[in-house]
Amino acid sequence: MSESMPAAFVGHGSPMNAIEHNRYTNAWSTFASQIPKPSAILVISAHWYVNITAITAMKIPRTIHDFYGFPTALFDVQYPAPGDPELAERVAEIVKPTYVGLDNDSWGIDHGTWSVLVHMFPQADVPVLQLSINAQLPFEYHFNLGAQLHALRSQGVFILASGNVVHNLRLIDWQKAGAGNDWAHRFDDGVRSIMTSDASQLATSEQFADYELAVPTPDHFLPLAYLAGLSAAAGSPTQTIVDGYEMGSLSMTSYELAGS
Ligand code: ZN
Repeated sequence: MSESMPAAFVGHGSPMNAIEHNRYTNAWSTFASQIPKPSAILVISAHWYVNITAITAMKIPRTIHDFYGFPTALFDVQYPAPGDPELAERVAEIVKPTYVGLDNDSWGIDHGTWSVLVHMFPQADVPVLQLSINAQLPFEYHFNLGAQLHALRSQGVFILASGNVVHNLRLIDWQKAGAGNDWAHRFDDGVRSIMTSDASQLATSEQFADYELAVPTPDHFLPLAYLAGLSAAAGSPTQTIVDGYEMGSLSMTSYELAGS
């Protein structure tokens, strides 16, 4: 396969998006229906944020319900996609000398991944792997690791980063359905102007005045560093798939890096 698969960052928002159908989930499924069927899906999810860089390497990854206080229907969701142990080893090889540990029994498919994939690939018939986000390492590490994954795109692997550009749960306001605070708009707009022109500059968003409000913890922002790295490696900017705001302090902007 010589063509290059698209890659994407999705603002996943509430776990409830897994069982709802709305503007965002429609955009995710439309996007997936327009790309070639991948040989595998490699996901960088905000919800596997740990002190090591690891990749799921089991044959049958379990569906993880890593949240509480949501309806039973959400706990009933299963995403029974197979894994791909051979691809996990290949990824670990490709990114050397960066160390990636093979995870055979600790993680699986978390809701950052399945709440999106149930819409993109409802049949769950494409192997899914997750790459953890190493919480101990700075932005540049994640950006560079993303760039190292570039080679996988020509092997039919769809790389999906799942987080939220603006994600401040402490400031959530249930009265602000479908709306964002001014600072959320400013930060999301600033990030967008970088992602759609020169994603190699994404690190400069750490200097934005609203960074502390928009990114109180790096877990949901760092997945975007992987798509920025891929974008820089490809030498082409990303485009917006869908955007919007929820509850004042979440942005739902999703980006696509087109295939070639
Ligand atoms: Zn999340």
